[in-house]
Parts: sequence; C-alpha cells; structure tokens
Amino acid sequence: MNRRTFFVLLGVPGAGKGTQAKLLEERLGRPQVSTGDIFRYNLKNKTALGLLAQSYMDKGELVPDEVTIRMVEDRLQQADAAQGAILDGFPRNLIQAEALGRMTAPYGGISLVPLIHISDEEAMLRITGRRVCRSCGAVYHTAFNPPKAEGVCDLDGGELYQRDDDKPETVRNRLYVYYKQTSPLIGYYFAKGLLVELDGKRSIESVQSELIGLLAEKEVAQ
Ligand code: ADP
Ligand code: AMP
Ligand code: ZN
Repeated sequence: MNRRTFFVLLGVPGAGKGTQAKLLEERLGRPQVSTGDIFRYNLKNKTALGLLAQSYMDKGELVPDEVTIRMVEDRLQQADAAQGAILDGFPRNLIQAEALGRMTAPYGGISLVPLIHISDEEAMLRITGRRVCRSCGAVYHTAFNPPKAEGVCDLDGGELYQRDDDKPETVRNRLYVYYKQTSPLIGYYFAKGLLVELDGKRSIESVQSELIGLLAEKEVAQ
C-alpha cells in the first residue's frame, strides 16, 4: 500500500485552521488543502466554479456537496499531494466526511483530526479583525497578528482586504451552519478514534508547537 498522511483540521470559523495549516505545510512537506481558498481563487478568476460558489459564500452557506467533493478529489490527485495533505475547511458535513473516507481509504485513511477549540465570542473577534493578502492569501489580524505596515502584506507587499463574508451578519450565519452541519463530525471522528482536542485560545506559536508534537507522533507511529 502506498501510504499517505492526511490530517483534517476542525474548528469553528476563525479557530485558526488556515493559520496553522499554512505553518504546517513546510514542516510536514504536505500541502494545505483549503476549500475556502480554492473557492476564493476561482471567484477572483471568475471561473464557472467561482461564480457558482459565490452565491453560497455570500450568505455563509455551504457550496453543494457534489461540486465541493469533486473539487477536493481533483486537488488530492495533484502531484504535490503524493504524500498526503493537511485539510482545512473540508469536510464540513457527514456526506463530505464519508466522501473523504472513500478518497483516502486506498492510502490508509485519515491519520488524525485535531479539533481547535475557541469560544463564539473569540471567533467573532478573530473573524471581524481578519485581513487577507490579495496576492498570496496570507492571513493577518488587525490586533492579534498585525502586519508590519498597516494594510500591507509582510511577505510580498500585497494589499490586505477584508473578506465579504467576514462581516458580522454573515459570520453569525457561518457559526450557525458550523454547529448544525459541521459539529456532528466531532462525534463521527471521535468514534473512529481520530479526534484530538486542542485549546485554541493561546498564541499562534503555542498552538503550532502542540500540533507539531501530535502530528509527528502520528507520523512516527505509522
Ligand atoms: P480559520 O481558518 O479557522 O477560519 P484563520 O486561521 O483564518 O481561521 O484565523 C482567523 C483569524 O484569527 C485571523 O485573523 C488570524 O490572524 C487570527 N488568529 C489565528 N490564530 C490565532 C491565535 N492563536 N490567536 C489570536 N489570533 C489568531
Ligand atoms: P472558509 O474559508 O473555510 O471560511 O470558507 C468560506 C466559505 O466557502 C464557506 O462559508 C462556504 O460557503 C464555502 N466553503 C468552504 N469550504 C466548504 C466545504 N467544505 N463545503 C461547502 N462549502 C465550503
Ligand atoms: Zn501576500
């Protein structure tokens, strides 16, 4: 069997999944696969997929499973995922979780599902202060993780913007959708013995070092 390592990051919007996944990429030699980032990339380039996704994203609803699952299937077949991937924002409901199970089964399945915990109040503060680089997608926070110069990406000088769906009205619906559709995955992965829970209300570095410890243990164990 050609073993690959797949990690799934779970947590409410704003928990820090993207921030942590980006930091882990290099360390683990496996790409971050963020469905939200792929949809935003398609939106920016006005592809048919982007236009379809937009109406759902604007409301904070989930993009239909069929489209999302096919997109992840394609992404996981790319060369850079030959050793596995760090999934961020997928799966988001049980149908997607079952699909991911089927996709990864030939390679030994999912290795670990870290759940990053923060409160809803913290999620609101984090999301409403989030700023994203238009050119490279790097993520900042106006207060908790500010760039060196306001409104400018440290990495490439790109302009920082606020996502449309990061406005308070949409954020409340995204949290609702999370509790209704995504939170059942906590029990689903717990029952499979894959869930580990982390306190996300700590510094980015502290969450990162705990994650690295957990994931490294899993890799060594394989
Ligand atoms: P998610 O991918 O789970 O939606 P992000 O990684 O985009 O979350 O993080 C949401 C916001 O919170 C961003 O503005 C990010 O800079 C900030 N953030 C991430 N991790 C932390 C942390 N440990 N402490 C404070 N702010 C954080
Ligand atoms: P995120 O970047 O993870 O916060 O996702 C932003 C938006 O993209 C979500 O509110 C959804 O509209 C859409 N999206 C991202 N991932 C998924 C997914 N796995 N299934 C359905 N929709 C998704
Ligand atoms: Zn940038």
